[in-house]
Amino acid sequence: MGFDVMLRGGRVIDPAAGRDGVFDVGIADGKIAAIEAALPVDNARVVHDVAGKIVLPGMIDTHGHIYQHVTGKFGLNADMVGVESGVTTVVDQGGPSCMTLPGFRAFIAEPAKTRVLCFISAYLVGGLEGHYYPELYGPEQVNVAHTVRVARENPDLVRGIKAHAEIGGASRWGLDVIRLGKQIAREAGLPLYIHLGQLWPEKEGTHIDPDELVRELVPLMDAGDVLAHPFTRHPGGFISTATGQVHPIVWAALERGVTVDVGHGSHFSFDMAAQVIAAGIRPFTLGADMHGYNVKVAAADAERTGNPFFGVAPFNLTNAMSKLLHLGMDLTDVVATVTSNPAKMLGMAESIGTLAPGREADVSVVESLEGDFELSDNSGVAVTAARMIVPVFCLRAGEYFAAGSALVPPAVRKVAA
Ligand SMILES: [Zn+2]
Repeated sequence: MGFDVMLRGGRVIDPAAGRDGVFDVGIADGKIAAIEAALPVDNARVVHDVAGKIVLPGMIDTHGHIYQHVTGKFGLNADMVGVESGVTTVVDQGGPSCMTLPGFRAFIAEPAKTRVLCFISAYLVGGLEGHYYPELYGPEQVNVAHTVRVARENPDLVRGIKAHAEIGGASRWGLDVIRLGKQIAREAGLPLYIHLGQLWPEKEGTHIDPDELVRELVPLMDAGDVLAHPFTRHPGGFISTATGQVHPIVWAALERGVTVDVGHGSHFSFDMAAQVIAAGIRPFTLGADMHGYNVKVAAADAERTGNPFFGVAPFNLTNAMSKLLHLGMDLTDVVATVTSNPAKMLGMAESIGTLAPGREADVSVVESLEGDFELSDNSGVAVTAARMIVPVFCLRAGEYFAAGSALVPPAVRKVAA
């Protein structure tokens, strides 16, 4: 058998296939052709020596913001978040709406080299400029029938529904919007992805108890729905503001089969994450949640990213993986949060998230560096991590992309004083 591309001698970690060991991966016609301990190297046109590196099913970022231009400076370039960062699939969370999905298809998804999917916004306006205008996100600004129809008509692109449950919205409309979001999800037969953590200021003269919001929210959710930003440093995450413990109702949600997406962004807090993980909760999916207001890049790269430099701590998907490792999760479980688990969340476990002969060759190659690396969050906490995962390259349907994106933060080694 001849191969167009061979990845030779890497450590393949593929949780869905139960595979962890050194294998050669052969690719022909954009598809995985063979995974064997040793494949005949003479039969390959291009051979990548990946000894000492880790070969993963193409990584899936469950929370991206890539509706560039339409969502103002919020939306990043899809391929910078995707294939140029070693990530083969990016799911835009709530950028496109029922009204703007055709533009998302024509101008973002189709030209992108990355596999682009979305959770369509429950709101008519979609993501716009990072949700600057709370008045556009009330129940009057939701059209259930239209959104359900568009979701049903575009199953190749729309894999879920995005809505918010946070105290700014609740101070204006209670839980009406999230109820409509749930109705859309149910009628479209798709999962609902719920943003936790304060987004908008509370309406003047009101006060919402974040614990109460979580209590009312959870009974609305079904198995397969997703709670996002559990580790948020803002009020309204998994840790009760009253008790400092994991909110009891969160346990009830997890028992129902609701899953947890990290949605790193500027939300991620080491302190919150450590508490939630110490309590025994494991995120199912990761999701970098990079957007134009939370990433940090060098000045020279600002123009292409459209980035106004609001980010404090640099991060991306592999940086977030390194944080989960530092917090005590094992490597296979961390890999599952960017491969097999998101494939399930998207209802696409039959096509992505694992390496198997006959499937499209979406493959990510990363390196696990050892040393003392600084990892930081937006609440000002910095830790020293012993391992740092960095992307090297990926193959998207067999096509090679080096991980040269300006959005990949440099691995900063601490120098002994
Ligand atoms: Zn987001």
